[in-house]
Formats: sequence, structure tokens, C-alpha cells
Amino acid sequence: MLDELRELYQEVILDHGKNPRNFRHPPDANRAARGSNPICGDRIAVYLRIGDDGRIEDVAFDGKGCAISQASASMMTEMVAGKTEAEARSLFESFHALCTSDDFDASKHQEADEDALERLQVLSGVRQFPTRVKCATLAWHTLNAAMEGRQETTTE
Ligand code: ZN
Repeated sequence: MLDELRELYQEVILDHGKNPRNFRHPPDANRAARGSNPICGDRIAVYLRIGDDGRIEDVAFDGKGCAISQASASMMTEMVAGKTEAEARSLFESFHALCTSDDFDASKHQEADEDALERLQVLSGVRQFPTRVKCATLAWHTLNAAMEGRQETTTE
């Protein structure tokens, strides 16, 4: 990866890590789940308000963890707001592939939101560090749990 690109990626992660978006506990959430990543000590909770039409009307999180887990959660909330549960799940699957496979092929993930996937590239550097993949995907696993009505999830 080019050095300038790596620096830009680090800036994005640091910015979201320091100023997480949607870091709050909405009182009108109708789904919630807690997720933990014991290896790193990351713990977060994801709160959703899902409308009658199956769209995610509001999404927020709180909790504590490393910069990558916080940045990933912050970015996740920005990306899934307004999406249907199916769209959010598809984005998660593509993101997971992006973080875990060396030969990620974007053409196989065309159903996923292209802009969002491009923004998520900044986290794909974790691919080289398997334990960091768990930090980067914790928020998404927790989002999935909340959508499925499971109240707890862990990366283990
Ligand atoms: Zn972590």
C-alpha cells in the first residue's frame, strides 16, 4: 500500500476513534445487543430503531475499546443508517470478506453499497493482523446480533 494512502487511512481511523459518531444510547431504540472481543478487551453495545418497513431509522453505539473497534463502530453507524436489515447484512458480509480475504473481488459484492464499501477500505489493513480483524468486525457482529434479536455476542 502506498505510504500516503496508509497515512490517510490512519487519519480516518484516528478521527473516528477520537470523535466517534452516534456515540449515544437512544431512549427509543427497539433492538439492542452487547458485543465483546475478549482478546483485546473491546466491549460495545449497539442500539437500533427499526421502522415498520424494516429500515434502520436510527443506529447508535456506546462502550469502550481500542481505536480500531471504536472507529469501526462509528463508521458502521454512519453507513447502515437508512438501510434495510438485508442491505446492512449484505454490507457486513462484504466488509467481512474485505477484512479476511487477500484476494477480495469487489465485482462479487455488487449488491453491497459501493460508496460504503470504498470507505470501509480504510479498515482493510487489519487483514494482516488476524486479532485486529476481530476489533474491526466487532461492531458489525453486534449489529447482526441486534437485528437477529440476540442480546449478546462475542468474537470468540
Ligand atoms: Zn480492539
